[in-house]
Amino acid sequence: MKLCTEPWSTVTIDYNGDIKPCLCADWNTVGAIGNILDKDLIEILNSEKLQLFKSQISNGNYSSCTEICPVKDHITDKDPSIIDNFTVPNKILLSVDINCNLACESCRTHNIFSSKINNDTLTILNKIYDFYYDKQVELQFDGAGDLFASKAYQHFLQKKFNDNFRFHIITNGNLLKKQKKIVENNNKRKASAVGKRTLKTKVEPEKLFENILPLK
Ligand code: SF4
Ligand code: SF4
Repeated sequence: MKLCTEPWSTVTIDYNGDIKPCLCADWNTVGAIGNILDKDLIEILNSEKLQLFKSQISNGNYSSCTEICPVKDHITDKDPSIIDNFTVPNKILLSVDINCNLACESCRTHNIFSSKINNDTLTILNKIYDFYYDKQVELQFDGAGDLFASKAYQHFLQKKFNDNFRFHIITNGNLLKKQKKIVENNNKRKASAVGKRTLKTKVEPEKLFENILPLK
C-alpha cells in the first residue's frame, strides 16, 4: 500500500516549543501535538492527536495533508510493517532560535539578534540531547534563524555527542569562519549542510568546514 512514513519518522519543533508532525507544519492541518517546554517528549509522541494522524495515514486517509506538501504526490508502496522501525522519530527539524546575523525581507521585517542565551531554546535543545543520548537521530538546525548567530546553539554544541547524532546544518554561511571551532568540535558526526552558497550534498565530517564556506 502507498504509505507516507513521515508521521512516524519526523517532527518539527518551533521556537515556542510546539511540536508538529512531519518536516513542515504547513504540510498538514494537525497543528501542535504538544509543547516540549511543558511536557516530556515521550508524552507528546504518545499524544492522541499524533496517534489519530498516524491511524489516518496508515489507513490511506490523507485528508489532513495539504496540497502544498511536496511528499504527498510521491508516496510509494511500502510494507506497512515498516512503521515498526520507528519507535521514536529519527529526524527532527529544530526551528528553535530566531536569532540571525541577517534580516532577509522574506523572513523578517527587522533584525533579530541577542547576545544572550535564549533560555527556552537551550531548554529545548537540552531536552532533545537527553532524550536522544543513546538513540539514532538526525538533527536539522536551525529552521528559524542561524545557529552560528545563536548563543544557545554555541552552548549546546559544546556538549559531547555520541556517534548516534547526525547533524544537518542550515546556515547562511556568513559566520562560519568566526565559529570555526563549533564545526571542528563536531567533526566526528556525519553531517550535511544547506544554505546560501553552500553545498547541498552530504560530505565527510572532516571536509564539512571547507565545503560549507562561502565560495570565493
Ligand atoms: S503526505 Fe505530507 S503532510 Fe501527509 S503525512 Fe506525508 S509528509 Fe506529512
Ligand atoms: S539568513 Fe535565513 S534565518 Fe537569517 S534572516 Fe535570512 S532567511 Fe532568515
